Amino acid sequence: MDVKIKPSLLTIRRNKLRYIILHHTSEIYKDSKSKINNNKYQMKGIYDGTLELKHGDVNYNFVIDKIDGEFSVFTCRPFTFLCDFDDIPDQYNRSAVHIGLMGNYDFKISEKRCYEILAYRILNPISKMFKIPETNIFFHRELSDNKDLTCPGLFVDKTVIISMMRKYLIK
Ligand SMILES: [Zn+2]
Repeated sequence: MDVKIKPSLLTIRRNKLRYIILHHTSEIYKDSKSKINNNKYQMKGIYDGTLELKHGDVNYNFVIDKIDGEFSVFTCRPFTFLCDFDDIPDQYNRSAVHIGLMGNYDFKISEKRCYEILAYRILNPISKMFKIPETNIFFHRELSDNKDLTCPGLFVDKTVIISMMRKYLIK
């Protein structure tokens, strides 16, 4: 169920942002420090994984990690560059911004606070800035040609994400 990504140089984005794709980090980064989202700073596991895998940069534009009881959004690969997902059709990937939730949500239920931070710190600002409709927010597994893929995890609920976005929408 893992995602295979070749070592890569960064590819400059030529297309307008039209899609947001959600992930959990355990699909790529295997370091035990980044497999389950605990209360500690775990981005180091992601950075180490990037070096180990010889990727050009973290393969998400943003990662959400929980530290000291609060979720924070980390800017990783600048969204002027594409992320590399061989299993996502180019028509989507070339226009997508990728957000990774730290951990593995096949095993863990996402916290309400994680959804709140996801919605108001990142999904709403990006949707607004690039005029991306709710219908263009996808789970990785919805676009992957790997039918066994569960990313961003079986416990992540899109209905809750969308309702949080509506709740925190700044008009
Ligand atoms: Zn994914």
